[in-house]
Amino acid sequence: MNGWVRSCAVVFAGFIAGSMAGPLPVTAAGQGVLRVRFGGDRVETRMVLDLDKAVSGKLISDSASELVIGLSDLSVQSAQAGDGEGLVKSWTVDRAAGGARLALNLAPGAKVSRRFLLPPADGVAHYRYVLDIKAADGSEAPPVVSLTSGKPLPKAIAVSTAPIKAPPIRFKKVIVVDAGHGGRDPGALGASVQEKEVTLAAAKALKARLEKTGRFEVVLTRNSDVYVPLDQRVQIARRADADLFISLHADSGPDSTTRGASVYTLADRAAGRVNEVVDPDDWLMKANAPGRDRAIGQILLDLSQRATKNRSATFAEMLIEKVGEERPLLRRSHREAGLMVLLAPDVPAVLLEMGFITNSADEKALTHDATRKRVVDAVGRSIEAYFARETRIASR
Ligand SMILES: [Zn+2]
Repeated sequence: MNGWVRSCAVVFAGFIAGSMAGPLPVTAAGQGVLRVRFGGDRVETRMVLDLDKAVSGKLISDSASELVIGLSDLSVQSAQAGDGEGLVKSWTVDRAAGGARLALNLAPGAKVSRRFLLPPADGVAHYRYVLDIKAADGSEAPPVVSLTSGKPLPKAIAVSTAPIKAPPIRFKKVIVVDAGHGGRDPGALGASVQEKEVTLAAAKALKARLEKTGRFEVVLTRNSDVYVPLDQRVQIARRADADLFISLHADSGPDSTTRGASVYTLADRAAGRVNEVVDPDDWLMKANAPGRDRAIGQILLDLSQRATKNRSATFAEMLIEKVGEERPLLRRSHREAGLMVLLAPDVPAVLLEMGFITNSADEKALTHDATRKRVVDAVGRSIEAYFARETRIASR
């Protein structure tokens, strides 16, 4: 386990998911906007609106002092307003024709660099509209305390305008690649090679393939011939705040003519076993459940699992399609299984059987660098396609 970085980047991603213990939420009473949160500092500020439904945001005006975004389909009962943090001095949400109007009073020169909608996922049951705001180039933004009103700030706000240690925004997707078996567990045996060797070689090649794009950070559950228990592999994915978990294996069977790749996702009946790998209290903390009530925790867990399961299935289809371009597939190539390693409730996870190590053609393909590289490249393409799709859904 080479020191994969649990940097503040991960904390920032956690903030998006609603789990950061950082700035206290500014609660908004009306429907529509459930709450408004801030993170970052005066160089980069992230504002998150928790919403009861999906909206599409449209820039209406962008003057020197005020930025106005229309949020279609969002119904608010009455105007809501609050003080901002970082580069946002204050905000207002009020009713407008066909939706709501979000007005931001920004620090001079500050600009919105990105805005996007995140669907419910990762233990959060609602939509989030995210705005990333950047300070004017090359200039230190003036302190936020000098609000337009000029009034002395309430104590709680004054505290929060102190520079927050700025966690960098995470742009790279974190992929956990799990090389099946290892150490005293060799996995299936081929004529000339053990499964654990094939999976490790493929995992390393996939890591290199993905990281070359500059868009992914890859965490391997093992990068040498060591034994890693299954539950530990799941914990590695959760601690890394992974966006995707892929476990690589090679199949075996009594009939040496059986060949082909296949993909597994978590079956419904196995989901109940989640408590084997997740401490309920740990999960509640992550889900930010009020009162740490077990019943609420279970509901959040169920919600998260459903969303995760759908995303796992989506990725599984893309994976099997791309791998199918390079390798033969088993007749029923996408299966559901109660595999321990897929049990992380909040990380989409699939298991890929790259082929049958007990079939000589498949074994050859998986042991030769050039052919293995083609399989790995197909996996890489499917991961790229999956995140391209996610981004399309999340944007505007
Ligand atoms: Zn295996």
